[in-house]
Amino acid sequence: MEKFLEIKLGITRIYLLKTSSGYIQIDTGMKSTADKYFKQLELLKIKPQDIQLIIASHVQSDHIGSLRILKEATSAKVLVHRLDGEALTSGKQENVYPVTLMGKILSKLTPDSMYVYDSVEPDIVIENDFSLSDFGINARVIHTPGPTMGSVSVIDDEGNAFIGCVAQNFPLRFFPGIPANAVDLSCVYSSWEKLVNEGVHTLHISHGRSFNIRHLKRILKRKK
Ligand SMILES: [Zn+2]
Repeated sequence: MEKFLEIKLGITRIYLLKTSSGYIQIDTGMKSTADKYFKQLELLKIKPQDIQLIIASHVQSDHIGSLRILKEATSAKVLVHRLDGEALTSGKQENVYPVTLMGKILSKLTPDSMYVYDSVEPDIVIENDFSLSDFGINARVIHTPGPTMGSVSVIDDEGNAFIGCVAQNFPLRFFPGIPANAVDLSCVYSSWEKLVNEGVHTLHISHGRSFNIRHLKRILKRKK
């Protein structure tokens, strides 16, 4: 069996990493896709109780919208970076800052009702890198700010990185690049450098298909 699974829920992809005793999940998708999530789990023959930990790649409604529902239905602990912690515990999303033309168009088209999620009390609040070895997997959570200041990525020992919205190739993009929304683009580029230095090769993102890190290396090189 593959060491990780991808589940597509509307516009958001979430990931399940196989551990020695269950699964670590990255993101949950929107509140409106919770039913679809449980159906997908059933199809994959995964019991909700098998989810040990849910990591918020960053606290925005399309990533953690159904977190409260999933936390209650699973026995999962919730992990968030301290800098996104307040947005999670308050249930109030931080402002979204569109940085691409598509981001600007999307933000105009998105109704306020899309930015909805219930507050969640996290179990693990991280500040720096965090090892997932206690959960039975050789992987780490690293801080990769950009889309929000508390954005994190999960990297495994086989060169996979699950990076949320630190990069995107969606929508209508032929090549991966900067996310549609970012608090600070210089943070995005530093986070890419960090991923390059970690030696990862395949980037799995929330919006769009996985891609090789050489696309980001090329953009970084052009900027120098
Ligand atoms: Zn997103």
